Amino acid sequence: MDLEEKLRILGAAARFDVTCSTSGGRRLRYADRPESAALPGVYYTWSEDGRCLPLLKILLSNRCVFDCAYCVNRASARRPRASFTPDEVADITMAYYRRRLVRGLFLSSGVWGNANHTMEKLLLTARKLREERGFKGYIHLKVIPGASAELVREAGLYADRLSVNIELPTPESLRLVAPDKSLEDILGPMAEITRNMEAYCEEGKVSAKAPPYLPAGQTTQLIVGATPEDDLRIMELAERLYRDFDLRRIYYSAFIPVNEDPRLPPLAEPPLLREHRLYQADWLVRRYGFRVGELLDDSHPFLEEDLDPKSAWALRNLQYFPVEVNTADYEELVRVPGIGLRSARRIVAFRRQHSLDFQSLARIGVAMRRARYFITCNGRYCFGGRFEERTIRGHIARSFRCEAGENSRRGQLSLLDWGVGEDPPRSRAKEALTEEEGCAQRLPTTEDVLIAACGEI
Ligand code: SF4
Repeated sequence: MDLEEKLRILGAAARFDVTCSTSGGRRLRYADRPESAALPGVYYTWSEDGRCLPLLKILLSNRCVFDCAYCVNRASARRPRASFTPDEVADITMAYYRRRLVRGLFLSSGVWGNANHTMEKLLLTARKLREERGFKGYIHLKVIPGASAELVREAGLYADRLSVNIELPTPESLRLVAPDKSLEDILGPMAEITRNMEAYCEEGKVSAKAPPYLPAGQTTQLIVGATPEDDLRIMELAERLYRDFDLRRIYYSAFIPVNEDPRLPPLAEPPLLREHRLYQADWLVRRYGFRVGELLDDSHPFLEEDLDPKSAWALRNLQYFPVEVNTADYEELVRVPGIGLRSARRIVAFRRQHSLDFQSLARIGVAMRRARYFITCNGRYCFGGRFEERTIRGHIARSFRCEAGENSRRGQLSLLDWGVGEDPPRSRAKEALTEEEGCAQRLPTTEDVLIAACGEI
């Protein structure tokens, strides 16, 4: 099989893994552009500061001895199989990178033979890139569940980020739909990575010669909707994972029915809105100081579809509102729907000099279409209607349905509509577009790149 065909197969096979914020074009409209489609394996990801970055996202092999019911690459699936050698991946990555088509590599793999054999190949690829090819870009490696502690430790010396996919929220679900995996095989490497990050960090404090270890930390992925757990169960697990393993991010991946299997639910569509609400709740827990128990409990085990979780919490706790923006603490401000961390900081800074009115709040970046129900400015309530749950809920839900309608007409779910008041949307999208356009102008054809890659072999 030639390199181009391998790249087509193994680039397409990698798109279901979302642990690097990419989604195979499902969520980032920029990735749907024909120029990108001409380059198999190139996906766009968001950096922490909101920039849109192209990554080469591929599998080393889509051969797998495991048979996870939800997976397109499961052993029993009848599909074309291919494997790269570590040298081939290193060559393609360098060819893309030197032409500034990608900023880094995301490399995962099916379980090829066994966990250690696969992990050795992934590690060898990263080592070749760093030591033989002088690759300075970003590397995200997938850790294979059950891989040995030594291989996991070494991988962290070459990769910027490692991820071990936990996939399912409970051991029972894992046994049901991914019977070849065990929770110990997943949590073991996660714990090993955490220990190594701490150990190297300590070493770095006493010796300037200590090697950098995993600067972008570790992440994991949870599939949503393939098994019956509710959002409360999922978010409680997320809270524990953040606490115990110091994870940078958990990626929630709406279950996409790609296989027919009686163990899986008969979904017509991936539960994208549920996934979106989980991301919002996760964001509130990680960045805004909410506890999972405030957002969900046994009487509300699922996040509401028509309301973002911050608005839903505010409506269940109207005794804390309306908040007077000219006097409220920062901690109170960040709990107001429509006021994000940045807006809250700006409010606190601005009101040292001036009194705030509704116009200045909008200029500061407050999402007034949400915030107006929950604030007063110098004692004036901004929303013309009654301050009561039913009225406010009706207004917010209606505006959400309008937005959803607009987004579906545009062919996307607005993942940037955080609904928690964080205000990246316009600026990020604009920046990302600028970035993307810059890349697109330089995009040659697949053949150009592969010819160049082969020339370098
Ligand atoms: S181990 Fe990974 S690649 Fe293999 S079947 Fe399971 S999810 Fe798919």
